[in-house]
Amino acid sequence: MHVNFKGIYLVIVLIFFIAFYFVIIPYYQKWRLQAKTNQTYLNLKDSPLPWKVLGYSEKNNPIYGLSVGSGQDTVIIFGAFHGDEQVGFHLALQLADTLYKNPQLAKSLVLLVPVVNPDGMLAGTRVNANGVDLNRNFPTEDWSPVYSKKRYYPGIEPASEKETQLVIQLINQYKPDRIISIHSDLRMNNFNGPAEELAETIAKYNGYPVKGDVGYATPGSFGTFAGLEMGIPVITLELPAVGIEKAWQQNFKALLAAINFKVQAVNIHNAE
Ligand SMILES: [Zn+2]
Repeated sequence: MHVNFKGIYLVIVLIFFIAFYFVIIPYYQKWRLQAKTNQTYLNLKDSPLPWKVLGYSEKNNPIYGLSVGSGQDTVIIFGAFHGDEQVGFHLALQLADTLYKNPQLAKSLVLLVPVVNPDGMLAGTRVNANGVDLNRNFPTEDWSPVYSKKRYYPGIEPASEKETQLVIQLINQYKPDRIISIHSDLRMNNFNGPAEELAETIAKYNGYPVKGDVGYATPGSFGTFAGLEMGIPVITLELPAVGIEKAWQQNFKALLAAINFKVQAVNIHNAE
């Protein structure tokens, strides 16, 4: 039998390159983002920005918040309900830094909460330390103990988790006029409650599709709780998988437009 060594060699080289691009590089990038995320989170306590500890996670990790800007409206921006969606955390931090240095850009009072789920984020998991999907743990009419996959485990009862309780407390305390919750990687401006026009405004800047529905059932979700049931305009900003820098480029003006929505004409083109 004739063995074509050249052919076998080419196949081996091809497999190596495919593995390199589709397995090794993504794995390395994920590992690097996790390391950067954990270090950034642990450094927040020494940040030059006046971060406040709003509350604690199930594992007693601090959940930080920063208030910036001023105005009649109040806007809350949440990141990392899901611990493995770390780009939202970094985006919220970059926004905090920019608005802290340029408070005139925000014509509303903005409360930034870059990570709702620090336990999950430090571990690189979607769920919190108790294995609960926080975005299925809100006390909505459609909350259900039934779940299709482990990643959607809603907890033993609605608002069973300390992180969920803190989010509810912040909403009752701040009474926000609109809320942005940053997730990934679906690339859309998903709106709940009276937020379609807000979503359209954001879309003018980030170019993502506007959707009233993510395409699958989300019982006990934050959007249902705050948007549909409390009547607060809620945007679930689903970032595409583009990394921190691109996500920032695509969304800085979009986030400013959401903060300043209908507040007054503001020339955001001068923003850095
Ligand atoms: Zn998510």
